Amino acid sequence: MTIRETPAAPTTEVVLEAAGLTKHFPVRRKLRSLFKPVRFVHAVDDVNLTLRRGRVTALVGESGSGKSTVARLLAQLYPRTGGEIKLHGQPTRVRGGRAFRAYARRVQMIFQDPFASLNPVHTVRYHLTRALRIHQRAGRTPADLETALCDLLTRVQLTPPERYLDKFPHELSGGQRQRVAIARALGADPTALLADEPVSMLDVSIRLGVLNLLRNLKERLNLAILYITHDIASARYFADDTMVMYAGRMVEGGDSETVTQRPAHPYTQLLIDSAPDPDQIQGGTGSVPRDAGGGEPPSLIDPPGGCRFHPRCPAVMPRCSTDLPPRLEIGDAPGHWAACWLYDPAGAAPSGTPAAREIGS
Ligand code: SF4
Repeated sequence: MTIRETPAAPTTEVVLEAAGLTKHFPVRRKLRSLFKPVRFVHAVDDVNLTLRRGRVTALVGESGSGKSTVARLLAQLYPRTGGEIKLHGQPTRVRGGRAFRAYARRVQMIFQDPFASLNPVHTVRYHLTRALRIHQRAGRTPADLETALCDLLTRVQLTPPERYLDKFPHELSGGQRQRVAIARALGADPTALLADEPVSMLDVSIRLGVLNLLRNLKERLNLAILYITHDIASARYFADDTMVMYAGRMVEGGDSETVTQRPAHPYTQLLIDSAPDPDQIQGGTGSVPRDAGGGEPPSLIDPPGGCRFHPRCPAVMPRCSTDLPPRLEIGDAPGHWAACWLYDPAGAAPSGTPAAREIGS
């Protein structure tokens, strides 16, 4: 078996699409609370997301914003509370068994901690062989399998492959372990990779190598990649498109250059102000003061009404605490939008804020 290579130029073909994706987790009740109503953590609400072939989409937000839950919902590791997921245009809802394996053949996940995601008592050969066998890509003969294993390790730049095949996870560095985890994901021959903070547990010196590897794979295999991160500076470097999440909701999206250079939503502006990127960073699109970074994310059991960012927002207006802002097109670049009343063309936007119009939520 060899890994399919699609050297054609990136297309806009949609691989994975989520519409209205919602996940509410029930809060476990204590014995004395059994007769009280069940409460829910509103981890993800009404998320829309599109992954296209040959493009990296970054999903950025602070811890607890729901971005990892989005990745797990897209991987169908959690059942969703609401919304729809389409794979290559087909609605999907899978729960275990053969249907899940068929889905996982197209959509693979890479986890944050490569050491935890590999079994410490098994070798690299075992992990990769298992993935190839599960997804029926091991070939017919031992020679086919050996070729496929070497091909996977070469693909993630662990060469010569013979040096790594019989090593245990503890004999590898963090970067090498993450490369093995990526090779295992490639063993399914996916069209979409969901990378949940793939470099955040690695040494700074090797993060760039792993990101460059993912970019190389995106280009050579024409993969659609979701890159989950809390580091908006790395999204700017690595991703074609960037979506920003706050307290379970999407608040801004567009191409990475625009979102990071001309952030429209006050939360994105705060994220960028706190990113250690000396190369940045001009003013945002709006005329919002940029110094109000204090405060904590809200409780998602009882999230604030209206805009969830309003308790922390330096530009808060009276309607923000009651009315949920829709996605409003900013107009400075194609596809740039923000869910913020500052850009309501019918409202009183501050001077210097470009006119906007509502787009589908
Ligand atoms: Fe701030 Fe209001 Fe915009 Fe929310 S809708 S980010 S509270 S200005």
